[in-house]
This record gives sequence, C-alpha cells and structure tokens, in this order.
Amino acid sequence: MITTKQAKTILPTMRAAVAALHEVWAKCREVERTLGHDMDGLEGVVQDIAAAVDDADQMDVAYVRDAINAQADELVSETDACPKCRERNIDKLIWQKNGVHVKCTTCGKRYTPPSK
Ligand SMILES: [Zn+2]
Repeated sequence: MITTKQAKTILPTMRAAVAALHEVWAKCREVERTLGHDMDGLEGVVQDIAAAVDDADQMDVAYVRDAINAQADELVSETDACPKCRERNIDKLIWQKNGVHVKCTTCGKRYTPPSK
C-alpha cells in the first residue's frame, strides 16, 4: 500500500512511464506497418531485448532479425492463416496425413494453405 502523499510524489514519474509505453506501442505499430503485417507479441520481444541490452545501439541487423524470427517462427504467414478464424499459431494448425490439408484445431476448419 502507498499513501496519497507517496502517490502525489510519484505521479509525474508514473505519467512519464505511461507516456513512454505509449511511445513503445506506437513504435511497434510502426514496425508492423513497415513489415506489412501484424507481429503478435512484438511488445514482448522489445521487452525481452530491453532486459538483455542496456544500450539500444548495441543491437545490429542480425540481432534484430534473430530476435524477431525466434518469435515469428511460431506463427505462419498471414496468407496461410486459417481462412475461417485467422488462426496463425503453428501449434494450432496441424498438417493432415494426406499432406494437402491443414486442420485448424481452434475452429475445426480444414483447408489447403496457399503457399503449399
Ligand atoms: Zn480456424
């Protein structure tokens, strides 16, 4: 528990922290616009990187590529998403034995991914 006096003391800092987060979100949307698709969990990737890297200038191209790919590997591309519910999690989309259809375990839809 904190007192009203303490809350008053930290208010400017808390405001700054919230404003900084909004900036982070805006930057994440900017990354998505540049890539041309949504990146689920991009904020999480940024947080993980920030926890590991003190100075953002330490990041190079390979670092950013690998950090994002480690996350993106779990999602299929937008075009291969379930046509019914838009599921993209690779663990939810199961190849059928015939090697032609994918079954979406989220909604039950069977479909052929366009990239196949
Ligand atoms: Zn589905």
